[in-house]
Amino acid sequence: MAIDFTLPPAVAEIRNRVRQFMLEEVDPAGDRVSFEPEQRADLVTTILRLRQRAQELELFNPHLPKIWGGLGLGATAMAAVSAEAGRTKLGPFVLNCHAPDEGNMHTLLHFGTDEQKEKYLRPLAEGRGRSCFAMTEPEVAGSDPTLIQTRAVLDGDSWVLDGHKWFISGAKGANFAIVVACTDADADPPQARNSAFIVDTPTDGWNIVRDIETMSGSHNHCEIRLEAVRVPKENLLGERGGGHRLGQARLGPARLAHCMRWIGQTEVGLEMLVERATQRFAHGSLLSEKQAIQWMMSDSAIEIYTAKLMVLHAAYRIENGLPFKNEVGMAKVHVANTLWRVLDRALQVHGALGYSRDAPIAQMLVEARWARLADGADEVHKMRIAENVMKAVAETGSVRRATGDFEL
Ligand SMILES: Cc1cc2nc3c(=O)[nH]c(=O)nc-3n(C[C@H](O)[C@H](O)[C@H](O)COP(=O)(O)OP(=O)(O)OC[C@H]3O[C@@H](n4cnc5c(N)ncnc54)[C@H](O)[C@@H]3O)c2cc1C
Repeated sequence: MAIDFTLPPAVAEIRNRVRQFMLEEVDPAGDRVSFEPEQRADLVTTILRLRQRAQELELFNPHLPKIWGGLGLGATAMAAVSAEAGRTKLGPFVLNCHAPDEGNMHTLLHFGTDEQKEKYLRPLAEGRGRSCFAMTEPEVAGSDPTLIQTRAVLDGDSWVLDGHKWFISGAKGANFAIVVACTDADADPPQARNSAFIVDTPTDGWNIVRDIETMSGSHNHCEIRLEAVRVPKENLLGERGGGHRLGQARLGPARLAHCMRWIGQTEVGLEMLVERATQRFAHGSLLSEKQAIQWMMSDSAIEIYTAKLMVLHAAYRIENGLPFKNEVGMAKVHVANTLWRVLDRALQVHGALGYSRDAPIAQMLVEARWARLADGADEVHKMRIAENVMKAVAETGSVRRATGDFEL
């Protein structure tokens, strides 16, 4: 087994340039802007200006193939780039590889027809538009997409969509939505009930009820009512009944992309913890000299190291066409929880300052909470991981296949 964690020179060169760009331009700009709705215009202007810089520096669209104006980086190279971008508030938006657009671009690349790619992927790739992905509904458990109640009915040359979605990130201002709706309620297996549609937005019947106020503020996660939304037949994305498969294919790499960005944030959290601990004096010594605080540092370091290995290995499997769902699921649970724990420790070491809005940790911590429940809640991933463990033992007599699937 050949293991070499050195980045190829071309990738290291891009990573270094991304690092410099983030440090010198993107991070300072992020400190000056706010995500509050009333200051959105200022935020958008800043992002557009920095995108222009990213294009000049040839760092735009790292995730897209070169024929789509991207850098053509694979999943392992993206791990390095996204971790750098994830250290900043605006980095992923500036490079155009933020959620949900990154996942939607991959989805269109893999499932879109040539016409759909030209009409919907092209503007995203050129940074001229935004999109959203609409699957979750308030009335049924988002963890089980076979329960989706939004209906799509064929009427002549159009599909007609009726339903209720919520937590649709980026819906306000999006040029289109990928909507998952039930087309075949009696399909067997139930995973074949849903299909995906591209809906031009805004359009008649696409009613944004509100930008939901979350524990970390309002960040364009919208509630939407679909009332007789007409979608041309050719806007079916992928095959009829293929909505579940498309969702899974989209969410696997998209989950890992989140993990890559979260690694950047956990590093920032641990750096803040260390910085404070090496300055704050109490009971005869610096906090950094106390074993209780050192253990917070070492626990965090161990967890971040594990997180990096898991993400890299899952990325390696994606890049090499190997099955990756189990590895991505395990990485998602571990990284989301590492993010939460590291930021919580950083807040603890900052004391009242950490709890205040004078320091960024409190906001980072509340924003991090969603990581453990969205894109597959911890419990759902763990359920699937356990199923894989049992299956591996039943079929092979060993857990090896379900624990990374490599020899030691
Ligand atoms: C910030 C944010 C952004 C989001 N963006 C989008 C978006 O852009 N598009 C979109 O479609 N959705 C989006 N979502 C929704 C997200 O995908 C769902 O919240 C997620 O799928 C869980 O669905 P749910 O909220 O209905 O929770 P439920 O499915 O009701 O689950 C609630 C809890 O029940 C438990 N649970 C569920 N199933 C099991 C099980 N089998 N075993 C044990 N326990 C279980 C878990 O603890 C889980 O957290 C977003 C959510 C958030 C918070």
